[in-house]
Amino acid sequence: MPKVTEYITFIPGQDEDLPDSHAYVIGQHNSKDLTLVDAGLMGKGAYKLGAIQKEGLSLADIKRVIMTHTHFDHIGCLGEIRQEIPGIELWIHEAEALPLEEGDERTVYGMEAFRSMCQAQFRLKSSDFSFPVNRKLQGGEELHIGGLTWEVLHIPGHSLGSIALYNQADKVLIPGDVVYADFAIGRFDLHGASGPILGESLAILAELDVEILLPGHNSIIEDLEPDYIQKTANMWESYLT
Ligand SMILES: [Zn+2]
Ligand SMILES: [Zn+2]
Repeated sequence: MPKVTEYITFIPGQDEDLPDSHAYVIGQHNSKDLTLVDAGLMGKGAYKLGAIQKEGLSLADIKRVIMTHTHFDHIGCLGEIRQEIPGIELWIHEAEALPLEEGDERTVYGMEAFRSMCQAQFRLKSSDFSFPVNRKLQGGEELHIGGLTWEVLHIPGHSLGSIALYNQADKVLIPGDVVYADFAIGRFDLHGASGPILGESLAILAELDVEILLPGHNSIIEDLEPDYIQKTANMWESYLT
């Protein structure tokens, strides 16, 4: 079920022993101004781009990648995608843009154990995740892209620069790894993470009117029950102190 709405194409992650984030292509197709939200794990670039083309979308129409955050399971195949779509822009929150430009990979790997495991498994060198950032987001922006309007919300806690994209017209929320289906939330033990701050970010998301929840992993929900995010926040409240 790759098409969520007329203007959102869902490219499911292909988890193996490491998770591969979902990716979403947003934008009206005739706008030729499409946006890829998140990329995926190292080695998954060809799969993601192939899946996008199978949906009838042209890679040349993809103008930018917006990262919900820069953990390796989301940004791992960005380099592969940049090779196939030259000139594609990278937009991320400023809190993760500056480290990425400087080659500080602590956010990418989250913890030392992941860094050594990933570098061995994928034969990566230090600073393989050093990218120029075209637009540094702060939260609060209204993005008019691909014929649609998306609000950017800064929702740290899972990582320093986690953002959500919210389309009010169709009640669509893309929250990255902050909140998932099945009342799950993102982990808050990695570099730059914080339980209490994650709780504050869940409270921000709980204010939104959301019908379609498109998280970074696991199931997507197309008929979200009212107050789902508030209920999820309540369930986790005692763990987020
Ligand atoms: Zn993830
Ligand atoms: Zn993450």
